[in-house]
Amino acid sequence: MRDTLVLNASFEPLSTVTLNRAVVLILTDKAVVEQSHPELRMRGAAVDIPAPRVIRLCRYVRVPFRRQAPWSRRGVLIRDQHRCAYCGRRASTVDHVVPRAQGGQDTWLNTVASCAEDNHRKAARTPDQAGMPLLKQPFVPSPAEAMLLAMGAGDRSALPEWLDRAAAAA
Ligand SMILES: [Zn+2]
Repeated sequence: MRDTLVLNASFEPLSTVTLNRAVVLILTDKAVVEQSHPELRMRGAAVDIPAPRVIRLCRYVRVPFRRQAPWSRRGVLIRDQHRCAYCGRRASTVDHVVPRAQGGQDTWLNTVASCAEDNHRKAARTPDQAGMPLLKQPFVPSPAEAMLLAMGAGDRSALPEWLDRAAAAA
């Protein structure tokens, strides 16, 4: 099931909701459609509309504080676009930069996507100890970045460019 990206009235990315929830927000005049899926329609008893990909709330919602995106293995793979941090090939595992055996934690800055081979080769060593430099430094995604990343590459590439900029600035 695809999710719909929800923007604040100020165009700032807020969250994602299910397609059904997005349609309810539109039908109750709480949100307007910014972008639809070109080939997907939502059909029901009283509705037949293009499936919304991005909606924008009609009223500004105050966000009390900016949370950090919660860490997860899946989140790390998505952040690194399933590319191994050591060789750039497709990654399916998550490696601890500072290994857990040396006190490394489950955090955004201490974990990277890794191919199984490199993960095994690096074992319980730091990149320095293993002589395996990181191709890219890990970073903490903002909640907005995490949302965009979670949409999947295909959906994301179809998003308007200003949205990526808005997320990068958030
Ligand atoms: Zn690798």
